[in-house]
Amino acid sequence: MTMTRDSRVPTDGRAGGSPVPTSTRATDRLAMAHDASHYLLVPAAVATPRTADDVAALFRVSHESGVPLTFRSGGTSLSGQGVTDGVLADTRAAFRAVEVLDGGARVRVQPGATVRTVNAHLARHGRKLGPDPASEIACTIGGVIANNSSGMACGTEQNTYRTLDSLVVVLPSGTVVDSSADDADERLRHDEPELWQGLLQLRDRVRGNAQSVRTIRRQFSMKNTMGYGVNALLDHDRPVDILTHLVVGSEGTLAFIAEATFRTVPLLPAAATGLAIFPTLRAATGALPELVGAGLATIELMDATSLRVAQTLRGSTPELSALQVEGQAAFLIEYLARTPEEVAGQRAASAAILDGLDLAAPVRLTVDPRERAALWGIRKGLYTSVAGARPSGTTALLEDVVVPVPALLDTCESLLELFDRHAYRESVIFGHAKDGNIHFMLNESFEDPADLERYQRFTEDMVDVVLGNDGSLKAEHGTGRIMAPFVRRQYGDELHDVMRRIKALFDPRGILNPGAVLSDDPLSYVHHLKQTPTVEPEVDRCVECGYCEPSCPSQHLTLTPRQRIVLRRETARARAAGDVALVAELESDYGYEGLDTCAVDGMCQVACPVDINTGALVRRLRGDRVGPVQEAWWDRAARHWGTVTRGAGTALSVAGTLPPVAVTGVTRLGRRALGADTTPLYDERLPRGGAARRPVPAADPDAVYFPACIGTMFGPEPDGAGVSAAFLTLCERAGVTVRVPREIADLCCGTPWKSKGLAAGYERMTRRVLPALWQASDSGRLPVVCDASSCTEGLDTMRRLADDPSGPWSALRFVDAVEFAHDRLLPGLTVTAPLGSLALHHTCSSTQLGSNAAATAVAARIAAEVALPVDWGCCGFAGDRGLLHPELTASATAREAAEVTRRSHDAYASVNRTCELGMSRATGHSYVHLLELLESATR
Ligand SMILES: Cc1cc2nc3c(=O)[nH]c(=O)nc-3n(C[C@H](O)[C@H](O)[C@H](O)COP(=O)(O)OP(=O)(O)OC[C@H]3O[C@@H](n4cnc5c(N)ncnc54)[C@H](O)[C@@H]3O)c2cc1C
Ligand code: SF4
Ligand code: SF4
Repeated sequence: MTMTRDSRVPTDGRAGGSPVPTSTRATDRLAMAHDASHYLLVPAAVATPRTADDVAALFRVSHESGVPLTFRSGGTSLSGQGVTDGVLADTRAAFRAVEVLDGGARVRVQPGATVRTVNAHLARHGRKLGPDPASEIACTIGGVIANNSSGMACGTEQNTYRTLDSLVVVLPSGTVVDSSADDADERLRHDEPELWQGLLQLRDRVRGNAQSVRTIRRQFSMKNTMGYGVNALLDHDRPVDILTHLVVGSEGTLAFIAEATFRTVPLLPAAATGLAIFPTLRAATGALPELVGAGLATIELMDATSLRVAQTLRGSTPELSALQVEGQAAFLIEYLARTPEEVAGQRAASAAILDGLDLAAPVRLTVDPRERAALWGIRKGLYTSVAGARPSGTTALLEDVVVPVPALLDTCESLLELFDRHAYRESVIFGHAKDGNIHFMLNESFEDPADLERYQRFTEDMVDVVLGNDGSLKAEHGTGRIMAPFVRRQYGDELHDVMRRIKALFDPRGILNPGAVLSDDPLSYVHHLKQTPTVEPEVDRCVECGYCEPSCPSQHLTLTPRQRIVLRRETARARAAGDVALVAELESDYGYEGLDTCAVDGMCQVACPVDINTGALVRRLRGDRVGPVQEAWWDRAARHWGTVTRGAGTALSVAGTLPPVAVTGVTRLGRRALGADTTPLYDERLPRGGAARRPVPAADPDAVYFPACIGTMFGPEPDGAGVSAAFLTLCERAGVTVRVPREIADLCCGTPWKSKGLAAGYERMTRRVLPALWQASDSGRLPVVCDASSCTEGLDTMRRLADDPSGPWSALRFVDAVEFAHDRLLPGLTVTAPLGSLALHHTCSSTQLGSNAAATAVAARIAAEVALPVDWGCCGFAGDRGLLHPELTASATAREAAEVTRRSHDAYASVNRTCELGMSRATGHSYVHLLELLESATR
């Protein structure tokens, strides 16, 4: 594929005179071409509207040029409704405001906010959104409304359609409709008379046709996202209300959703969860009516293949592991309530039902959060393991069908027979059994025409099975491109025609997202299928789900993890096609956007369902481009690390006395010689150097203390003593003895080398650090406590990389100082000078180490109020990345800083010196290590 600028696309869409940011660069177009679906269209341009006016301007451009417009938000859609070869408008970047109303009973949201963020705002009020898609970490309000998403527990009562209060939409004509206004219907009649009248006519046409009424009632008594939500024509009388509810589930084909207000539902934090394993699928589905009657919030089906896969997962229960899986099936069941007492009441009331089930093993309900997480890990791990283990070069397709609950058994059995007939191996069936909504996965390579034919034959058979059981071909993932040709078959000619008329009323020129929801081409579902080239192990596993995007510090500056991965795929594809110019362009952009501005903090791995650390890929690729001069310099640095850290600290102290321009000029020269990606840029906001690290001998200590070298390079805030001094004082105060290794001045966790892919220096440091700590810790008997979370994590990684699990260093235990303080020091301390409010910034490493809870608990001990920003994210400082590329930290911290500075706090803290620097820069407040505050509060 040769990438050229598309002459159809005028890039001067203007709103109020200022152009809507639009790009036609190959990197942007290819990075955005991919979403979670198995369709791939490369947009002609990518626009980033910032306001509803910008969107109206894009509509005008589309009308004038005839180039269609498609919205992209979280990009987690699975049915192909978020891809286009026209203009793709990224509506996630802006549009993120969240406003809690009526003490949490309602929430007003812009479409780019993720479900997780909105729920974090609501959690403070004991409320949540009704729709509960499994993709909540990444999917956004725009996508949830446009797809009428639901999930495990919400059913049809608490889905988007039912819990939506009002919408603000921009129609393709540019008219803005605010359905919450008292005179909304009047205004619609005035501004859009044809649309208003047309909706009335459709309402009466549908209501006057008994067959249509029956079909709609039957179809929408289930979860159903096929075609348009024509139930709106029965459920609502006023055209403006019909319009609002037709936009729900319209997949960006009718209007732009600029704002939404939802009625929220109670957050039910108390739960009891268990796995009910039945001898057969028939026994399981047969028990469904009784289980639904037992008041269970969740009943998740897993078929026999799912159980076999589940047995290989970490969270597998003893009962499951012991099972000889033949034809069994299981339900993951869960009670949810406001309090543990309510859960106990629910269990007691339904005990007889559970006791009477025909089970292969007794069901054990647990309220323990870890056990519950393990059980959910099994259910969620099904997708992970099957998708992650698919043969490289194939694409994972996640299907989503629904049938009336009594038809579930027949449908599942027929699907199993179809998998056999069409030779789809390992196709697990799982899903929301109480709603009759099941998912199954197919791994398919679309390159081979024979495979494509097989896929078509399977689809035809599957459509027959589902429609033959009075079901719907899409329950919650949206019609998209995959099912658009089958809408007529599901609803019949009359309702299909009603849907076509709806589209024509809203979007007469068909500029909005053509190809999604309705299609006249019976084979359009096999056009534009994604072919996935084999590239490299990290990349090949990726299913392009987008879960990793919202937590990535570089998402607003350059690329997201998914984009870093898909650009590797696109580069491989261009190389295979012999498109030398495109390869050169992509590789040139990738240097800065893909590699330099990745913080390699691994936050993507925390979110990734198939466990990909894009940072690890970036590190490896950085290593490939390291020149001999840089490698040699950093290897020398590893040899003389004590001198380097002291030198850097002294240099910062000296630099603090010189004019900033002069120092910045010198470091710029150094960056030219050694490379901007390995040589930090001096910045006058940096602190002076800190104290050199010195050994502390101790005959019989409680722990080894590893003060991080970043404390020597970047000293404390002007009025602080630094974390190292604070930690030693706290230990003394609490009666805990620590030993600092003899070699400490020359030791480092290795992150500066590892993050840059400098293998020789990393290896050298590893060979020095691990033996020194082994000796200091009495051969691993004592824990090693580090006072910077990224270094604690770095040390643990060093141990893992140097060793197999049973190797000589495996006994070394690294503990972050905050966790150590929580467990060992707090009991011996008395808070004498408590704080009012404390803003706490967790770090990417404390998240990965699992020490956030300890940090929050320490903070809560010394402050009456601990403010944890909802818009928290990794600061992107990542050791020295914030010095190498300060723009990364500035971008990564912008939202959190805006939230933190909205009010003032008595103190600001984090648990890593460089993150403290990053947050101080971003907020203008002085962040210190939490242990420094603990020390001053317990004097
Ligand atoms: C692993 C996985 C699990 C999933 N689990 C579930 C589940 O449990 N339940 C469920 O319902 N879904 C699930 N989904 C599907 C998907 O996550 C949801 O449909 C989600 O709501 C899509 O949101 P998004 O922000 O990613 O939207 P996108 O994919 O970006 O967009 C979705 C559609 O909405 C349109 N759109 C986006 N923003 C706007 C706007 N502001 N105005 C108008 N149109 C707009 C787009 O054009 C597109 O047609 C899952 C997906 C994955 C990958
Ligand atoms: S390592 Fe961090 S910056 Fe790099 S892709 Fe992953 S989340 Fe983004
Ligand atoms: S890296 Fe993981 S989370 Fe990100 S898109 Fe790929 S599979 Fe999804």
